Amino acid sequence: MDYETVIGLEVHVQLLTNSKMFCGCPAQYQAAAPNTNVCPVCLGLPGTLPVINRRAVEYTITTGLALNCRIPEFSKFDRKNYPYPDLMKGYQISQYDLPLAINGWLEIEVEGRRTHIGVDRVHLEEDVAKLQHVQPAGGPGYSLVDVNRSGTPLMEVVSAPDMRSPEEARAYLTTLHSIVQYLGVSAANMQEGNFRCDANVSIRPRGSSEFGTRTEVKNMNSFRAVFMALEYEVERQARILDDGGTVVQETRGWVDDRAVTVSQRSKEYAHDYRYFPEPDLPPLVVAPEWVEDLRSRLPEFATQRRNRFVETLGLPEADALQLTDDKALADYFEETLAIKPDMAPPQAKNVANWMLGDLSRLMNLSGQGIGETRVTPSHLSELVGLIDSGTLSVTMAKTVLEEAFDSGDPPGKIVEARGYAQISDSSVVDTAVSQAIENNPKAVEDYLGGKESAAGFLVGQVMRLTRGQAKPDLVQQLVKEKLETARNA
Ligand code: ADP
Ligand code: MG
Ligand code: ZN
Repeated sequence: MDYETVIGLEVHVQLLTNSKMFCGCPAQYQAAAPNTNVCPVCLGLPGTLPVINRRAVEYTITTGLALNCRIPEFSKFDRKNYPYPDLMKGYQISQYDLPLAINGWLEIEVEGRRTHIGVDRVHLEEDVAKLQHVQPAGGPGYSLVDVNRSGTPLMEVVSAPDMRSPEEARAYLTTLHSIVQYLGVSAANMQEGNFRCDANVSIRPRGSSEFGTRTEVKNMNSFRAVFMALEYEVERQARILDDGGTVVQETRGWVDDRAVTVSQRSKEYAHDYRYFPEPDLPPLVVAPEWVEDLRSRLPEFATQRRNRFVETLGLPEADALQLTDDKALADYFEETLAIKPDMAPPQAKNVANWMLGDLSRLMNLSGQGIGETRVTPSHLSELVGLIDSGTLSVTMAKTVLEEAFDSGDPPGKIVEARGYAQISDSSVVDTAVSQAIENNPKAVEDYLGGKESAAGFLVGQVMRLTRGQAKPDLVQQLVKEKLETARNA
């Protein structure tokens, strides 16, 4: 049977605010010792009252705008009730029927084809505490609760069931990830769990207008895991339908080391959350002027930036794509060019080459990111300048970059200290050429006998005599000149 895949994603994004969603505790929960960033509000003690974090609301609206959503003037918080040891109050403050942002879309690109994926809503809620399950050998197991994460702001982005393949789901996720990074609203690190995705997936006979029964897959902590989990689910569901069975609506967990999904909770055990308006918080009125102000401050996103790199800096599409894929990389690139603004377009391609070539290679080898390397934008600009001015050959520049990478010294200083400067003084090169010719009478004879490649051999000898520092085109010119003089003598 030929099936069509239907996917909708729910993405939870931890917001980079200083304080928690409804209290003044620091939102940073990872670096702090367990249960130190805690107060009566996020502990859920009776008699406390929540206060809305303005910055979290602002980040959510901004994200909604970046996702082409409408921002209704009226929004509110609701209580989502369920008992769990990591939920301190026994309910989570979330948003139910009136979220901060609705009805948007996100453009994705798969194999050169652009599609809009609907974004149903972006809402704001609070995260739960963290449980650590301990199982001592022989003894009874127990669980530890760390309340630091309780009450940290969490934004949820819910897509429409618009994706039709795991490839589209992956493109949606990476695009959304890039947007929140460009906005600076989240660290958005999947491994660390501050960008989490639940994937809803169903299949239906191709041509059918009704959706099939979906399963919801959780626990993926990389883009790759989401992709693999979806591929696995699509196949599993197809096998069930092919065998005449029915798909059960349930929550399934991705088991990374076995690369399978397993049933976690079927619909019979689905929560009845008994949502009701949060009585401790006033409704939220979002002034249109505030929304317009936030809209006017939206940054340039990866796609626009990529287009600009191609159009105004003349970069090849592939380079522009690689650079803008990671905001930090693109920032570094622009900082490097900004050091000599009038040289920006002519040097753009060279700077990109060094970044994506040798510098990336060195960073990969040492496990450093662009934020950690000791080669600063001003160092890289200097290096490219030294090549431009003829002081360094490309080969020499590679050596200088390696040394700059290890020592953190500026390239100019390295060149000076090590005497790496390219020799462009023709009298020095001239002496070396004379010497090479004198030392290699056989090569001269071959050349005069018609063997052109003998000139290349002599050029190589001159480079050796000058430890690779002679300016190659100058050497070539002088070798040719001297050989022709010998011919006419
Ligand atoms: P819930 O609140 O139970 O999680 P929602 O209706 O809010 O359910 O949908 C959650 C997600 O599931 C959304 O991203 C939506 O696009 C997706 N979804 C809904 N129905 C289907 C389906 N039949 N197949 C795949 N995804 C679906
Ligand atoms: Mg869901
Ligand atoms: Zn608190």
